[in-house]
Amino acid sequence: MDKSSTLTKIGEFGLIRMIEKLVKAPNSSVVKGIGDDAAVLKWNKAKYLLFTCDMLIEDVHFRSNMRSSDIGRKALACSISDIAAMGGLPKYAIISIGLPKNLKISFVRSLYNGINNIARRFKVDIVGGDTNRSKKIIIDVTMIGEVEKESLVLRSSAKANDLIFVTGALGGSFKSGRHLTFIPRLQEARLLVKNYSLNSMIDISDGLAQDLGHILDSSDKGALVYERAIPKHKSASIKEALYNGEDYELLFTLSNQQAHKLIDDIAAKKIKFPVTAIGQIIERKNGFTIIDSRGVRKPLKPRGFRHF
Ligand code: ADP
Ligand code: MG
Repeated sequence: MDKSSTLTKIGEFGLIRMIEKLVKAPNSSVVKGIGDDAAVLKWNKAKYLLFTCDMLIEDVHFRSNMRSSDIGRKALACSISDIAAMGGLPKYAIISIGLPKNLKISFVRSLYNGINNIARRFKVDIVGGDTNRSKKIIIDVTMIGEVEKESLVLRSSAKANDLIFVTGALGGSFKSGRHLTFIPRLQEARLLVKNYSLNSMIDISDGLAQDLGHILDSSDKGALVYERAIPKHKSASIKEALYNGEDYELLFTLSNQQAHKLIDDIAAKKIKFPVTAIGQIIERKNGFTIIDSRGVRKPLKPRGFRHF
């Protein structure tokens, strides 16, 4: 097939850039439209509104023989993670479902069991949705959150010399099943934004290399990453830690002064979750580089999970 005119040619991110040009430019009440983990909208004096959606599709994100309670909780967890990555708190969700008509009723009961459990834990109210017939199971979550203006963290404000940190450990999320059971790092993100001045943040949904690449593109910066410093999950290789998706850990950058405060707090055991410094933001012209375990500098390609 001629691929020169299909989505394969422009790729997922080329497609999103194309759509950004096709839709009307946002008005001044939009603080941040397309291009971050959630849209940021003016709301009241103290806070911004956060607005995000995530769709899960059978045979792309899950198989129908997986526990439907896990699928339900994951659907909500992805959006909670995006709100966390903006520094905010989730509030309301509407959930649209596409279902085959021969699907067992018990599948839907258990799906909503999973949804309810995580909604309760993170204080999210389900306030609506839409129901359609579909050949494959589809679950689409739209979520509203809020963030104090001073707590908002974008992808686009990383500064040269910032230190780059990640929470938790990376790699092998899909093969281990963690992609279904992960706990969004909401508490951790809130603790970070309340105690430190973060310059940028993203959640790692498409893989460390690609998601750090998003921060670098949005901030017009480069990065130097130390392979030895990257926290890997037990059975994960460095390749999996760099390029696998679905970790849902946080990646954030701090000025040197703020980074030292955080490192001191980690040493003083004031931080109760794993956080690791993995590298440094540098000027764009100095590239995106990894120093491998033997000390050799190599270009790091911002690749990871892509739909096209
Ligand atoms: P995440 O991995 O954090 O969920 P995505 O890679 O899905 O983020 O999306 C990146 C940005 O592109 C977001 O701002 C999102 O709203 C936007 N985006 C994705 N798909 C579309 C679309 N079809 N139309 C408009 N914006 C989109
Ligand atoms: Mg995200």
